[in-house]
Amino acid sequence: MSTYNRLKGVHDIVPPDAFIWNKIETTVKDLFYIFGYDEIKIPVIESTEIFTRSIGQSSDIVGKEMYTFMDKGGRSITLRPEGTASLVRCYVENGLKWKHSSPQKYYYMGPMFRYERPQKGRMRQFYQIGAECFAAAGPEADAEMLFMINEFFKKLKVRQLRLEINSIGCKVCRPAYKSALSEFFAHKEDLLCNDCCERLTKNPLRILDCKVDSCGQLRKGAPLIVDYLCEHCKSHHERLRELLDKMHLSFNDNPLIVRGLDYYTKTTFEFTTDHLGAQNAVAAGGRYDDLVEEFGGRSTPAIGFALGMERLADLVNMVQVPPYNDNGPFFYFAALGEDAWMYCLSIVNNLDKNITSICGEWTRSLKSHMNKASSLNAKYVVMLGSDEIQKGIATCKRLSDGSQVVIALAHIEDFVKVVQSGGRP
Ligand SMILES: [Zn+2]
Ligand SMILES: [Zn+2]
Repeated sequence: MSTYNRLKGVHDIVPPDAFIWNKIETTVKDLFYIFGYDEIKIPVIESTEIFTRSIGQSSDIVGKEMYTFMDKGGRSITLRPEGTASLVRCYVENGLKWKHSSPQKYYYMGPMFRYERPQKGRMRQFYQIGAECFAAAGPEADAEMLFMINEFFKKLKVRQLRLEINSIGCKVCRPAYKSALSEFFAHKEDLLCNDCCERLTKNPLRILDCKVDSCGQLRKGAPLIVDYLCEHCKSHHERLRELLDKMHLSFNDNPLIVRGLDYYTKTTFEFTTDHLGAQNAVAAGGRYDDLVEEFGGRSTPAIGFALGMERLADLVNMVQVPPYNDNGPFFYFAALGEDAWMYCLSIVNNLDKNITSICGEWTRSLKSHMNKASSLNAKYVVMLGSDEIQKGIATCKRLSDGSQVVIALAHIEDFVKVVQSGGRP
């Protein structure tokens, strides 16, 4: 037991979990790039107003879960509880719309903070990867985003996720639906949970995704949004469904996917799994056609999503076998003495970045180097001391069968490349 412990609801990511996280992040960077996304780094702290105005006062996030404090200058600051509001603030503030051709696509990754009761898969500091596609009004953008997320899961070998989609309408058609819902639940007010009683006046849509059993029972027979969508929202949703069919991306229509945030319009979606105990969303998002304007930008329809790293890492952990760090370095450089070590470092530094090499500490004996190399699962060990440097040679040993060759230091980089590409030393 150490003297100091981490706070409730936060965690340390240590190997081998850290390897999985790296693998996920690398997959994001490679794949999202193909779809035209650039990374944006957004700050962890923002003015509280960024979130209260966009996510909405009636949401659980703003109502109960934000880490908000006054800084020494008397400003109200909040640790970001999600990424979209910051991204939109950043998009408008930096005039990103006018710098690139449409649509503009960005992704982000990093920790988010919500003061929740910690439970499995739900932390107070949690890590999200999210992407936003700005200035894209048509359902094609929705379809492309869903396709990309699906490809991403495929690359990580995470399967059997269910895609559920819905449309929650727009500012034209949603008010009528909201009042139909209020009317429907008004008779049952006594039976609703406390939260839902509040939602009844603030945002009755949220009653639809209440997790309390009794509220679930009361939903039966509630009016469905699909009957209230305006022509524009209806055709958007129909076209999205058509495109998903064309892409062979299977999905379910689920009228209960309303998401807990006020800024969504039209399409909402979730990728869910039941491999982590209760049914859980691994990735979720939706369209927010009015949010950029609310932040002072020009009217810019947009869509985005975020996925939870902790849940995804658990899923990847289930389908992939350790070690996750691609079986260790290809070359382990065993330097005997500091001169040799400095020599090795300069070689390793100059090697092609695709060749994984590690330089062992110079304080090790040869035996200790060999133990370290095999514990790392290295393929070859290149051994040299100051004698070898003077003679201009080194010995290279293949760990799988113990065979070794003497190589000329002048040509070591060529040698390493030949071996790495599958040639024989
Ligand atoms: Zn509409
Ligand atoms: Zn409820």
